[in-house]
Amino acid sequence: MSSPDQPKLLLFDIDGTLLDTGGVGLRSLKEAFLETFDLSHREPEFPRLDLAGSTDGSIVDHIFGLFEIEPTGENREAYFSSYHDRLSKLLVTFSNDHGRRLPGVLELLTRLRDETDHVLGLLTGNIARGAFTKVDHFEMGGFFEFGAFGDDHPDRNQLGPIAIDRAVDHSGHEFPANQVFIIGDTPKDVACARACGAKAVTVATGGFPKAELDALNPCFSFSDLETDHHSFFAMLG
Ligand SMILES: [Mg+2]
Repeated sequence: MSSPDQPKLLLFDIDGTLLDTGGVGLRSLKEAFLETFDLSHREPEFPRLDLAGSTDGSIVDHIFGLFEIEPTGENREAYFSSYHDRLSKLLVTFSNDHGRRLPGVLELLTRLRDETDHVLGLLTGNIARGAFTKVDHFEMGGFFEFGAFGDDHPDRNQLGPIAIDRAVDHSGHEFPANQVFIIGDTPKDVACARACGAKAVTVATGGFPKAELDALNPCFSFSDLETDHHSFFAMLG
């Protein structure tokens, strides 16, 4: 049993939950491939990428397989390094016009930090350096010091326990699974919460309509993080 004063662990997804890069993430993933590997003589067209809730690691595995690129550590690092350079530049030159922090997020994070003892972390398919570059760019870097990322494991369902272990190291608190809230905008975030026994919390600020997310029976469901601060705090008890 946990006491009422036990801090909760809140693990936030990034894209579609905290922010929208305005297409910069996808563009960086694609352009980095074309820059890093010569794909011109290869047969397949560059595929449509199913980014929603996918990890960067699984996207890379998919494309490496498609274009028969050796999945070596060296190739991965060359790719992710190119991706991250591109992401950093495009966020500045392109995303200032098209990207945005999602409504109510900054206010919610500020209240959680200033008015509660809850512990905030990231749980995202982004590689770690990309994750921090994105949240820093949209002025949320100060809220997050740890997380689990797409370069920790290609399977998002494996990321919950990694994030919880890091939260324990970071905060010195234990977090039973029922005190962990995983907040995201896709069915894959719900699956990831279920995989580690955490509470799934959905926000319909990414590509998925609220009705579609509600049909998955998450523990809590919000239209966005702007209008629902009261319910969000009520959820935490
Ligand atoms: Mg997302």
